[in-house]
Order: sequence, then C-alpha cells, then structure tokens
Amino acid sequence: MNAALATRAPVLEAFASIQGEGRYVGQPQVFLRLRGCPLRCAWCDTPASWTWRGDETARVAAPSGTRREPALVDVATAAAWIDELDPSRTRPLSLTGGEPLLWTDFLLALKPLLGERRLHLESAGAHPAALERVRDACDHLSLDLKLPRDLNEPVELEGLAVEETPRTEDEWTAARRAVLRLAAGRDAALKLVVAGGRADVDFQPLIDDARELAPDLRLVVQPATPIGGVTAPDQGLLDAVVDRAARAGLDVRLLPQLHRLLGLA
Ligand code: SF4
Repeated sequence: MNAALATRAPVLEAFASIQGEGRYVGQPQVFLRLRGCPLRCAWCDTPASWTWRGDETARVAAPSGTRREPALVDVATAAAWIDELDPSRTRPLSLTGGEPLLWTDFLLALKPLLGERRLHLESAGAHPAALERVRDACDHLSLDLKLPRDLNEPVELEGLAVEETPRTEDEWTAARRAVLRLAAGRDAALKLVVAGGRADVDFQPLIDDARELAPDLRLVVQPATPIGGVTAPDQGLLDAVVDRAARAGLDVRLLPQLHRLLGLA
C-alpha cells in the first residue's frame, strides 16, 4: 500500500438505495463505491470502478442534489457523506467497489466513525489476507465465488496491491478456500453469478468448497445481467446449479439483481 494514501480512498459514487443482491436484498442501505479493482470479471457491471488515475471525481447523490467532489477522500469526509445521505443513521453502509479490500486502512479507520451504523462489505473474495485484516470490523460479509472461466487476466493497480490477485485455477481455489474459512460462522453470504453458456458441473468445486468450509452460509445464485457479450443463463442452467447447491445441503436462493429490475442505482 502506498503510505501516502494511508486512510484515504478514492470514491466512485456515494448514494442511498435498496440493496439489490445477497442476504440483505431489498434493505434500504447507503452505498460507498470505491474505485480500484484488479479483477476483470466477464460480467462486471461496474467497469468504471476498475481504475484510478488520481484526478477523477466522485458522484455524491445527496438528498439536496447530486454533485461531484474530488474522488480521493479521508474517512472524515466519507463519514460526513454517509450521514448526509442517511441522517437517521439507521441504514447499513454497503462498502462496495471495485474491490474495497484494496483499502483496508480506510475501512478500519472509517468503522469507528460509523457509530451504531452497520458496515457491510461487498468483496470479490480474492484477497484472504486483506479480508482477515478487516473481518472483525465488518458486520456482514458478502463474498463472491468466482468461476475461473468468468475471469479475464487481472490488472494490478500500481502501488495498491495488498496481496497478489489469484491468476491460476489453483491460486483461485486456495483463495476461495481461505476466504470461506474466514467467513464461516459469521453474518455472511456467498454469491454465485451464473452467466449463459456455462456448464452446471463447472460450479460443483465451488459448491463443494462451500459445503465443506462454510455450510452455514446462504448461497445466492444470481443470473448474470447480459453485458459486454455475456448472455443471461437459461432456466435449465439456473435450475441445475440451484439443484446442485440444494443437494449439497446449502441454504440456496435464486435472486436476480433487484435494483436492476427496479431501475434503481
Ligand atoms: S470484482 Fe467486482 S468490480 Fe471487480 S471486475 Fe469483478 S464484478 Fe467488476
């Protein structure tokens, strides 16, 4: 980590909306979407979050009107934005990205400023050392199980690597298993995105790892939103993946991206 950044992080956008995915789907939340992600998921719906050059601005969708602010903020500024978006301080904060695990110092410094507000982390689950560092500061962990076939070559952000992003299937397996061990028994959920043209059998190693290492966690199967050449899965594929998870004894749910269905941010 670049020491000059310390407890600052670059923000893509801050807004209040409804959680569209995972265990808390439908819940009113405040979202702080950080910039920077070394992954390149084929079905990524937020590619604008991937990079950070240093001169971007953040979209702050405040009740008084949407404005642009310098993207790189300290935790005090981020906390002020969050309270501006939800003065009642009742909505959980969804810290999302991008990959928020690039910004562990920021997360740890932000947590005490949130008071009673819950902190929900949404992560790709590719960086177990970073997750271990912040796990106890998070009230909920939403972690992806990534199908290696869905991943293009990672692109590390210069000076920001907290740990190497997995590249090979073996590295992905090791990261997935480490992350599952860290999340087991916690307020956490797993997300499995299913794109069209995949084979249901390809998901079995991910399901097997969840069954072995974190059988208490809900598994949310999420149809990929068609984007960038990725197609939506057909019903047969979704049924087959859900059936594999159910037969493994997992608490499985099939959920679309609710916010997309409703046309929300
Ligand atoms: S981890 Fe998230 S932000 Fe990064 S490429 Fe994948 S879907 Fe996009």
